[in-house]
Amino acid sequence: MKKKIRLLLFLFASLFLTIVGLQVYFNWLTWNSEQEIFKRKVHESLVSAKARTWQDHLNKSASHLATFLRDSTEISCRWNPESFTTTFTIKDKDSSSIGQHTVTLSLDQIKARYDRITPEIREKFILQFCENIKSDLKNSTLWYYTANIGRHMEKYYFYQPIDLREMEQNFSNALAENGIHYPFLVNDSLSGGWSTEKVDLSLYKPHGPHYFWASFNPPITYFLKQQLVSIIGTWMLIALSLITFLWIYKTLYTQEKLSEEKDLFITNMTHEIQTPVTAIQLASEALEQLDCTEEERRIFLKRISKNAASLAQLSTEILLESKLGTQNEILHLKTVIHEAAQLFPNLTYQLDGDHLIMGKKEQLFRVFRNLFDNSTKYNNNENVVVKIDAFTKGKTLEIRVSDNGIGIPVEHSERIFERFYRIPSTEVRGFGVGLSYVKKIIEGMKGTIKMVSAQGGGSTFIITLPK
Ligand code: ADP
Repeated sequence: MKKKIRLLLFLFASLFLTIVGLQVYFNWLTWNSEQEIFKRKVHESLVSAKARTWQDHLNKSASHLATFLRDSTEISCRWNPESFTTTFTIKDKDSSSIGQHTVTLSLDQIKARYDRITPEIREKFILQFCENIKSDLKNSTLWYYTANIGRHMEKYYFYQPIDLREMEQNFSNALAENGIHYPFLVNDSLSGGWSTEKVDLSLYKPHGPHYFWASFNPPITYFLKQQLVSIIGTWMLIALSLITFLWIYKTLYTQEKLSEEKDLFITNMTHEIQTPVTAIQLASEALEQLDCTEEERRIFLKRISKNAASLAQLSTEILLESKLGTQNEILHLKTVIHEAAQLFPNLTYQLDGDHLIMGKKEQLFRVFRNLFDNSTKYNNNENVVVKIDAFTKGKTLEIRVSDNGIGIPVEHSERIFERFYRIPSTEVRGFGVGLSYVKKIIEGMKGTIKMVSAQGGGSTFIITLPK
């Protein structure tokens, strides 16, 4: 089961990491493509802002020209029967400058016959004439119809530099139309940011270039705005699956632990029951089969009643454990050791001072009872002496239990804690479960146990428990 849980954990971890990796890769791809889209939109906005700004400049120049034509020229017209067109004559009022000051022309757009000029026809002509000049200028052509018209257009169209603030406003509007509401800096770079290409706004090249460019912070906000719902949605799904898995894992793990505890309990109980049952069995068989004296009968009966009492004690303990065993309480180390040592009449123990431990009394009692039991069993001395040292070491309590027994060869020091493991040469009867049970209890209390021993020099068990 543990293996299966570990496999499940491994599979899920791989799956989870793959999903997270794919998601990060996908987000990275989207981030790159969104950056490209952002840059493309910015570029389009820049081109359209330039066109708009030039158009505005052209409109302004044309409106200056219209005012000039109204105020500073004399316009007349007549019907030309040869070409079947109305011809208009523009004459500069001020003829002081060099060049021609009169021009006669007809406009394709005014086809009607007019024999003489009126304010309405004059205005109509001025507006159409300005429109024609605008389309000429769009094609980068400037006709000097009269010297003053040419100069006027040079001054207002070519020599008047384009206002950068107007360009900035148009750029900002174009960005907004493209769905980008993102601050930028004009003709300056932001550290770590991204800059557009430089757009030349100059209309008259000999004046040199007149650049406009903008700098943006990395478009993360733009990206997040575009992808927010999908990013949050997917990451929430991932988090949800992680939570679900952890919950399933916790449930499985708890069940596994419960089943282990049940196994341990059954093994331990078997071990505890086996000894008195065997003793009762042997004594009753002896009573039945042997021809015993009164004295021997008394001894066997006493043995039976003693072992029956220990079985009764055991069942009481089980009952107690089922009721109180799960409850942690503050324990006096000295009291628990004293109670456990009482079960072994030929055992004397030495312990200075007392320490408080948080734990289950029954369990800690069994730890010492098992250790004392072993100290007595694996001992050739008549008097079993157990020395106990307990002291605080950092945030832990260290308890050293040393006996004057036969000791344990160092090569067995790890394996004696395995269930059913017994040192092969041992003649003493046993089941090899006592120390594994002790270890389980200590680990359940978040502690550790190890054995240090030199053969012939007794055994020392070192227990550490969190304080
Ligand atoms: P059991 O005593 O029933 O065999 P344990 O798990 O208590 O099982 O002990 C495992 C083995 O460790 C024993 O068989 C014994 O050889 C050895 N051992 C345990 N405690 C001691 C000790 N205090 N002195 C010498 N040997 C010991």
